Amino acid sequence: MGRSQAPDVHVAIVGAGFAGIGMAIRLKQEGRHDFVILERAERIGGTWRDNTYPGCACDVESHLYSFSFAPNPDWSHRFAPQPEILAYLERCAHRYGVLPQIRFGHEVRDAAWDEDAQLWRLETSHGPLTARVLVAAQGPLSEPAVPELPGLERFEGKTFHSARWDHDYSLEGKRVAVIGTGASAIQFVPAIQPHVAQLDVYQRTPPWILPRIDRPITPLEQWLLKAWPPAQTLARLAIYLQRELYVFGFRNPEVMALAERVVHHHLAVSVPDQALRAKLTPNYAMGCKRILLSSDYLPALTKPNVEVVTERIAAIAPNGVLTEAGTLREADTIIFGTGFQVTETPFARRVRGRTGRTLAETWDGSPRAYLGTTVTGFPNLFLLLGPNTGLGHTSVLMMMERQFDHVLHCLDAARRRKALALEPSPLAMAAFVAEVDRQMEGTVWLGANCRSWYRDRTGRNSSLWPGFVAEFEWRLAHFDESAYRFETPAPLPVGG
Ligand code: NAP
Repeated sequence: MGRSQAPDVHVAIVGAGFAGIGMAIRLKQEGRHDFVILERAERIGGTWRDNTYPGCACDVESHLYSFSFAPNPDWSHRFAPQPEILAYLERCAHRYGVLPQIRFGHEVRDAAWDEDAQLWRLETSHGPLTARVLVAAQGPLSEPAVPELPGLERFEGKTFHSARWDHDYSLEGKRVAVIGTGASAIQFVPAIQPHVAQLDVYQRTPPWILPRIDRPITPLEQWLLKAWPPAQTLARLAIYLQRELYVFGFRNPEVMALAERVVHHHLAVSVPDQALRAKLTPNYAMGCKRILLSSDYLPALTKPNVEVVTERIAAIAPNGVLTEAGTLREADTIIFGTGFQVTETPFARRVRGRTGRTLAETWDGSPRAYLGTTVTGFPNLFLLLGPNTGLGHTSVLMMMERQFDHVLHCLDAARRRKALALEPSPLAMAAFVAEVDRQMEGTVWLGANCRSWYRDRTGRNSSLWPGFVAEFEWRLAHFDESAYRFETPAPLPVGG
């Protein structure tokens, strides 16, 4: 190895969503102030800034979908709406003093590990920057996926993705085509249905939908949560335990069959029409895709101005959608509720490791990381919500928080060893990935009938954590220093 070099900044965090802001807060709490957050937008919030579609709310109860170190007694509802969640994150960023360290309008276009200088060389939209440590907190759901439908460019109406909602465009009285019936669409469809003239919902696969039991948090409850903080801990614990029950179902499809009965009942009550109900009945195991919560989506589909279209889309015509059956369904607007680029994230194509290969090339279509966080050959790179850390049933903030701790453990170990760089040993990473894959066997996600974006192009489920959140917490609570290789040549330690 050659000479080392002092970087411009010790830690560069990419993205100012929950992961980036949370990481920054934890660094500050540990007395580590030499960091910046590079945020391509002009406001913090990540997915909660980008998703402003009507009806947007979290489908995990807010007392759990919040940082454990920053409980909020003021949630208005069990499932808080998007503006409240964004305001909460902004309050956290302000309260913990991380806002001055955010560089807005800074997009990271390239990140290359300089083996000689033992640091990351970043190319941003505002010029170059060097950092000893790179924390990728851009989020798995940040790049919208829009299908390449033939003729789309010739459509004469308006199109947008649910994560890029155009609030200046009125849907009042319009003929609207919604493509996709996932977690986002089931929230905005009932919100726009009363305002549009015609709503065609293009459904490729019917989702499994449980009722969403939402209600306002009463002033008395808010008072109690404020006056007696253990009440918040108990509320979190109750939600946490109840949601962990899903894991029994993910691992044992026959257990999931019990929950399927609830869905069928909800469907029967919400959709009296038999033909429509048949279209909306899933023919694959529950849990294969995200289980959705809604009490107003199915009733909205029964309204006279709504049609659920299950014929496949063949092409987009200038004035509407052409189905494979040869029907042209006219539309003024197409809204894509078609999700995000998760397993082939563009960020992985911009990060080059020790050998000059990108993360995308290294992964070759199947993302892998030690503890979902670090990757052999990519020194001092930490992926927040990296491979196999996603959850389909509960709050991902719990996963993130354990990853923050892991990053801090790594930085502490490096400081102690006066190391400039660290990365997981190939053996440790391979063993972890093998263990995840083993746990994944027999789960509902790998079932014969199950196709979802959780699975990458090799067929692995590289998105989700296969077990209980508690198992991930336990794994990360026990920091195994021997899993890492440290570079200790020069006097400038990575630990700062
Ligand atoms: P999604 O769940 O991936 O749903 C995408 C939908 O688009 C699916 O119905 C999919 O059909 C359909 N689709 C994709 N490509 C298509 C094509 N070429 N032709 C026709 N249909 C197509 O996306 P999302 O609803 O945006 O949600 C993404 C993730 O965001 C969720 O899983 C969740 O993690 C998160 N989210 C969370 C919340 C929350 O409240 N916490 C709310 C919204 C979103 P197939 O099923 O057949 O693929």
